[in-house]
Amino acid sequence: MEDKLADIYNVQKFKEFGIELIDLIADHLKNSYDNKVKVSHWVTPEEQLAYWKNYKLDSNTPQQLFKDIIDRSIHIHNPRYIGHQISPTVPLAALSQLVSAILNNGMAVYEMGAAGTAIEKVVIDKIAEKIGYDSNADGFVTSGGSLANLTALLAAKKVMSTSDVSNDSLAVMVSSEAHYSIEKALKIMGLSNESIINVPVNDAFNMQTDLLEEYYNKAHLEGKKVIAVVGSAPSTSTGMYDNLQELAKFCNAKKIWFHVDAAHGGAAIFSSEYKHLLRGLSNADSVTIDGHKMLMTSSAMSFLIFKEKQNSYAAFMQKAQYLWEKEQEEDWYDLAKRTFECTKSMMCIQFYSILKFYGEDVFGQFVTRLYHLAEIFSEKIKFRNDFELLIQPNSNIVCFRYKLKTLSESKLNRLNGEIRECLLHNGDFYIVQTTLNNSVYLRVTFMNPKTDEKIMDELLSEIQRIAKLFDKK
Ligand SMILES: *Cc1c(COP(=O)(O)O)cnc(C)c1O
Repeated sequence: MEDKLADIYNVQKFKEFGIELIDLIADHLKNSYDNKVKVSHWVTPEEQLAYWKNYKLDSNTPQQLFKDIIDRSIHIHNPRYIGHQISPTVPLAALSQLVSAILNNGMAVYEMGAAGTAIEKVVIDKIAEKIGYDSNADGFVTSGGSLANLTALLAAKKVMSTSDVSNDSLAVMVSSEAHYSIEKALKIMGLSNESIINVPVNDAFNMQTDLLEEYYNKAHLEGKKVIAVVGSAPSTSTGMYDNLQELAKFCNAKKIWFHVDAAHGGAAIFSSEYKHLLRGLSNADSVTIDGHKMLMTSSAMSFLIFKEKQNSYAAFMQKAQYLWEKEQEEDWYDLAKRTFECTKSMMCIQFYSILKFYGEDVFGQFVTRLYHLAEIFSEKIKFRNDFELLIQPNSNIVCFRYKLKTLSESKLNRLNGEIRECLLHNGDFYIVQTTLNNSVYLRVTFMNPKTDEKIMDELLSEIQRIAKLFDKK
């Protein structure tokens, strides 16, 4: 064997690198928690590209490389990160991924991932139970919410289409505020723009359930067969939960598929204080819940759970056999029959390790804490007369803007856009923005339980400071 090949598998070296790397990561976490380093160091994409193209290692340990990668990345564990919806990974869950990476069990068939396959079944059963499904439910873990939504909609199509309906005439009803992964999935499935029926939202940014009948009938008159309704729990921009009970009732009456995209807020099934937001979820035919959003795992890992076990096989079944062979017990253990992935990493051990070491209460505590933070923050916004709250939050997502009565709408849009850009370039905080009803809003998502009131006050003061600079221009 070549020396180099022997070298890369050298166990002693792995141990030395590993210890150094864990030290490095621990320092990174500590620095992030204590805000010793900024949330992010902004450089342009071109500068970043040039840096890595010309990068040279000046030592023969990987520590320098990993340190440089950390330094040039955004730091989700910093409590001043209040931006996009992604968890500060539980360190134990990250370690479980090192085990998964080394084992590299493919998990397509049972024998290529025996432990992982059984663990996946245990965690699926846990999530199904918390949704309120009975023992008929089943599902799997897949690589992200977008893929979970696509798989759910493929299953809906397989189950709901009858041979006399052409692909061209299938339609799906979805909130105009739904995540764009839904539209992407439907486009992949060959649905046209006209077949993606966007139901408008009300003032609370929920799908207007009283319009469902009208939109359904209109589609029917146009020769379309509506096969499914997709609810958002919550929608991404505003964090508002659709009325799942009403949507379930409608789908039940029409005998059509009800999918809930609970990628972000499905984790509230663990929170006794907030699980009421998901009332009706147990009537859904399929539910997407992301682990990396609010179940504290690294990305991307998502749960896709079906109320009826046999539907979890539908998406990738070559023929519609399952329709006639429902009695035939499907294997629970050869997972690739059901997932888009063939080779799939042991994502499930992240959730399982948190569950086993810390207990399921920790998931509820996480969601409850983050939703509380949003309530506290929105009170602060209401209290200050140079800020405006879009709407009382329903989750950990809050939309607001800096507002002076003397400024026109177009100036306010420019001002808030500049505030967000300035924050991004300064790197002390990370928040995002969204456009709603033609107005630019600043948008925060509380993802870190370590974020506190002091940080909120500092953020608002920083926004005021930036706004004053803009005023002088
Ligand atoms: C994040 C999100 C998705 C997409 O999930 P990924 O894991 O990023 O692919 C879909 N729907 C909603 C509501 C989301 O919040």
